[in-house]
Amino acid sequence: MTSLTIDKEKCIQCGLCATECPIDIITEKDGEMILQHPGFCLFCGHCKAVCPEDAIAFPSLPDHEFVPLSEADAAMDPDRLLLFFRARRSMRKYRDTPVEPEKLEKIIRL
Ligand code: SF4
Ligand code: SF4
Repeated sequence: MTSLTIDKEKCIQCGLCATECPIDIITEKDGEMILQHPGFCLFCGHCKAVCPEDAIAFPSLPDHEFVPLSEADAAMDPDRLLLFFRARRSMRKYRDTPVEPEKLEKIIRL
């Protein structure tokens, strides 16, 4: 199974992906980005998130698993985020109603 690919036509060798990879899977060699031991990839998506040319792909995963930083920035509203943090509480009493399986599946996937 191919964990990730780098499109050489799109890549501008900026090196951001190599800088971000926590386990040095992507590295530069002779002016080209190469993959070392891609089987150990953690699928964290850092490399794809920072790539300015959308040159990195994960064939085995759907694109929506990796949200570009620009989209996340645009969706981020500091006031709403602060409100969310302040409203967050630990629940110690529970309703006697089952949680829908699709909600559980979504939480597990996150
Ligand atoms: S997904 Fe994460 S571990 Fe895999 S190559 Fe990219 S940055 Fe490295
Ligand atoms: S971040 Fe993208 S454009 Fe930059 S070196 Fe990596 S694959 Fe190439």
